[in-house]
Amino acid sequence: MKAIAVFPSSREVKLIEQVEPVITQPGQVKLRMLDIGICGTDKEICTFAYGMPPAGADYLVIGHEALGEVVEAGAAVTHLAPGDLVVPTVRRPCPHARCRSCRAGHQDFCETGDFTERGIKGAHGYLTEFVVDDARYMHPVPHHLREIAVLVEPLTIAEKAEYQLYGLMQRRPPWIDPAVSERTQGRGHTALVLGAGPVGLLGAMALRSAEFETFIYSRQQEPDPRIAVAKAIGATYLSSQTLPPSQLEAHIGPIDLVYEAVGHSLLALDVLRALGPNGIYVLTGVPGLQTLIEADPAALFREIVLKNQVVLGTVNAGPHDFGAAIADLETFNQCWPDAVHALMAERTAIEQAVERILGRPAGIKSVISFQSYAR
Ligand code: BGC
Repeated sequence: MKAIAVFPSSREVKLIEQVEPVITQPGQVKLRMLDIGICGTDKEICTFAYGMPPAGADYLVIGHEALGEVVEAGAAVTHLAPGDLVVPTVRRPCPHARCRSCRAGHQDFCETGDFTERGIKGAHGYLTEFVVDDARYMHPVPHHLREIAVLVEPLTIAEKAEYQLYGLMQRRPPWIDPAVSERTQGRGHTALVLGAGPVGLLGAMALRSAEFETFIYSRQQEPDPRIAVAKAIGATYLSSQTLPPSQLEAHIGPIDLVYEAVGHSLLALDVLRALGPNGIYVLTGVPGLQTLIEADPAALFREIVLKNQVVLGTVNAGPHDFGAAIADLETFNQCWPDAVHALMAERTAIEQAVERILGRPAGIKSVISFQSYAR
């Protein structure tokens, strides 16, 4: 069967042939992979800047944003059956007894750093025809979401952030309102999303559906399909080509929440200066190493303290966030079906995957598909 693999030592990315896996444990399922999303992390892995093969292997099969169909279930699997659609969790726990987070099922908060991530760190991924995996880490998805369910994993990043925000908001102005529900936590508040890629746009959808007044700030200018999606979901698009970060506050007013989804540290720093009093700044992008810049930490920390601000880094996602993402994707698809589908303009076959990953993306979110879709 075909797979896309990265060989860091020989600096190659290529289509390889592998033996089809078989179930060896009663708790496993065998999946036929349907769709695999490509993100910035995959590009970094394919340019040898990130990622790690499994112990003892000289290559890593990539792919972590996945949708698969169960084709076989081990004898001990009770919650999944052949024909079910599933989205797998990316991260798997570290083995150490001292890691409180992993031992409690919160490997997205792993304390030792010895976790594995499928398709990223120490474990093969899903950009291959068949996979055998532990059924515990599979999240069932309804069949009517089949065409868009590959967006679940990138949406979990926003879901994890929102879940933590809700906890913070219940204890801090300007949000304190005993009557506020998780679904309407943004009512009367302003959010700025940095970046109009898939993570930014899915994050903006999550913020809009929680009733935040939402602005998206990115470098594209009209006409652009990303800007069309921003408008379709009721967000206001602002281009960094015409509005510098220093003018954001004057333009928007106090910004209660920033959801950063670009991984550009200098831009993130500039926009931090525009965060409003009592504001929360969520960082989700993993910046590549950039040239050293001069900063004034005293001025920066002084502002954070004097304005009661929170800077929150967040990575990966847990079971709660996968459940929330599946439910929210359904809501987004009801509210803005065209915008959700516009994220994936085109699908690519595995034979063209390497040029798609290393070259120009197809649409806003590149998807490698093992099946053709008739819409
Ligand atoms: C993935 C996460 C992962 C992170 C860091 C992201 O692209 O979506 O699951 O934890 O990269 O490796």
